[in-house]
Amino acid sequence: MFLRVIVDITHSEVDKIFEYTDGGYQVFLGSRVVVPFGSKKIEGIVIGQSEKSEYPIEKIKPILGVLEETPALTKECIELMEKVVGDCYVSRATALRLFLPTEMRKGKVKAKFTEYLVKSDDFDLDKALGEINKRAKNQKDLLLYLSETDKVKVSYANEQFSREAVKSILSRGYCNVVCERVVRSPYKDLAEIKKAVTLTPKQQLAVSKIKNTDKLVTLLYGVTGSGKTEVYLNLIYDAISRDKTAIMLVPEIALTPQMLKQLRARFGDTAAILHSGLSAGERFDEWWRLRNGEARIAIGARSAIFAPLENLGLIIIDEEHDGSYTSESSPRYSTIELAKFRADYNDAKLVLGSATPSIESFMLAESGEYELACLPDRINKRPLPEVEIADMRLEVRRGNNTPFSSVLKSELSDCLSKGNQAIIFLNQRGYSKTVVCTECGHVQKCENCDVSLTYHMEDDALLCHYCGAKYKMIKACTECGSPYIRYGGTGTERVVQELKKLYPSAKILRMDRDTTQTKEGHFKILSEFSSRGADILVGTQMIAKGHDFPFVTLVGILDADMSLHFSDYRSAERTFQLLTQVAGRSGRAEESGKVVLQTYSPENPVLMQAVKYDYEDFYKRELSVRKATGFPPFTDIVRVLIKSADDEVALNATKSIYTELDALYKANREKFRFFGCMKAPLKRLQNMFRYQVLMRVTASDKPLLDQIFSRSDKYRTRTVSVTMEINPNNLT
Ligand code: ADP
Ligand code: ZN
Ligand code: ZN
Repeated sequence: MFLRVIVDITHSEVDKIFEYTDGGYQVFLGSRVVVPFGSKKIEGIVIGQSEKSEYPIEKIKPILGVLEETPALTKECIELMEKVVGDCYVSRATALRLFLPTEMRKGKVKAKFTEYLVKSDDFDLDKALGEINKRAKNQKDLLLYLSETDKVKVSYANEQFSREAVKSILSRGYCNVVCERVVRSPYKDLAEIKKAVTLTPKQQLAVSKIKNTDKLVTLLYGVTGSGKTEVYLNLIYDAISRDKTAIMLVPEIALTPQMLKQLRARFGDTAAILHSGLSAGERFDEWWRLRNGEARIAIGARSAIFAPLENLGLIIIDEEHDGSYTSESSPRYSTIELAKFRADYNDAKLVLGSATPSIESFMLAESGEYELACLPDRINKRPLPEVEIADMRLEVRRGNNTPFSSVLKSELSDCLSKGNQAIIFLNQRGYSKTVVCTECGHVQKCENCDVSLTYHMEDDALLCHYCGAKYKMIKACTECGSPYIRYGGTGTERVVQELKKLYPSAKILRMDRDTTQTKEGHFKILSEFSSRGADILVGTQMIAKGHDFPFVTLVGILDADMSLHFSDYRSAERTFQLLTQVAGRSGRAEESGKVVLQTYSPENPVLMQAVKYDYEDFYKRELSVRKATGFPPFTDIVRVLIKSADDEVALNATKSIYTELDALYKANREKFRFFGCMKAPLKRLQNMFRYQVLMRVTASDKPLLDQIFSRSDKYRTRTVSVTMEINPNNLT
């Protein structure tokens, strides 16, 4: 048998399929194998088998071994891998890495086993006691202990009764060693609360619409707090009872424990969790539980779309509009596109849920390509929280230099005095956004990047949020030596500090990337807050989504403008989504909620629509703007990014690529809405100089995209990186 193998090297020059013979091993499609490669032994995956080969047989080497009995990948996964290769313009080896836990690839983690001593079938205590040496006290104690239990850990027996005793009892055949697989299971302390919920008529309607539609995709458009989760759980129940499997995706790792808790409450161990925050062993075990069918529901952030499940009946993408569903590093896959592929492959249903669907999804629902199910009301008709706009220009004029408007302060005092909880949202971690010299105006920048540094009080250090570089906090300006340094802009650390001054007795938690680095860090902060261990939760966008905190009655949004001023075509959409999501955290239980939205541009129409929760109005206006200006979904934005450590090398490659693409553009003008070449907005990042050719072209024109790629990719070398991005999340 001849095997077609992808070797696990992502070097562009080995982006080929290699042939091997099976070497007498039993190999399946999707098996992980060890193969000889040059003088090395490396791992690979079998993606095809055949009886014949075009190569002379004597040139084909045999594989050296098979890593697991069960093939790691299914046929579906291999096809999905090909889709990633086609959509994202990456090598097969790169695409394959998405499918396997990293540690498994490198062979660093293995299944964990524990050894036990178990009595042999003919164990007879009296007989054994008679046979052993009368003075061997440890052996006697061990026999007595064994006679009263079913099994004892070998490590425990060694400790309690000595290794010698264990050895001689074993050698006399009184007991045997058995290995048992230990499943390393994350979030063991999640309490399982079962509450029976009867669906409201509207939820019921949504469920039956989704079950009965013959469309592949349903958009579940339901306001925050309308009970979408309950609809998901019902659909999962339905899939499981039809002997199918399900994937449930949430936009943040921080949201997975909460979802897992609900899934475990209903489905027990049938649910497995997959995300990068687990320990290597846990991820390995959860992955195999899904692969071998022990677990049938996969829950996770975007990468769980690669869950090794067979026989899928349902895929749910919660908060489908969220930017995290598009990967920001290569391969830049769209989770929704891959989900459509898997749903179609398995004849399964795909449900996209959101209170603020992406413009594209809502357009497809309107056009009838997607089924549309709506949940227009909050559960029990609780009103959406009232939003008050605080004009920060007036605050500054009044001499208020704190991050809080007067209305937010009085609402906070009110909220805390009633014993309720508040959330303060700010999308900037650290203490200050920048560090500026008051004498010469110099802003401290990263040495590797064209980016200003953020001060972090906890480390007393300056951090680059792009490359992670850490610098000592300066005592004086590095330009002019002046000791007068000003902190520009406010981050979460500073907000906490200011809140402590205002409310010395309030307990405050901070949740951002810095406080969630430890294992299950998100989970700990969220559980503490939801069990009312704190009064105020300050955080970045991590706290904006999905969480259900019944005692929160106030949400303060400190910088509603932040994302509005980015030059990205999606900034209005992002702002609207973010504000609606954050506001949705308030007033979810009995008491009604309030939101204070602080802004320097209160007249901005996007903020006005968000205040009124008028998604449909927002959608209509935004869609017409996109149509008029030729932005997605009416076009595709394509960026070819050229990077090199040497500025001149990068520039030369850019010129060549530009010339090639310019010819393509001139021959196909009708397909281009925009064509231009320039320095990337961040000219230097991680010591790489960056240039780009930016285009807007007819939507979904695959042959055109292929041409753009092949004309650019030619200029990729060892020193120049050339990547192509389609509708990237951000154009830094
Ligand atoms: P969404 O995901 O749409 O924001 P959730 O699913 O979190 O909303 O539901 C909001 C709240 O309403 C939750 O506390 C949930 O337990 C409750 N809930 C949902 N459905 C029902 C129901 N049918 N009956 C009673 N309570 C419900
Ligand atoms: Zn200075
Ligand atoms: Zn940097």
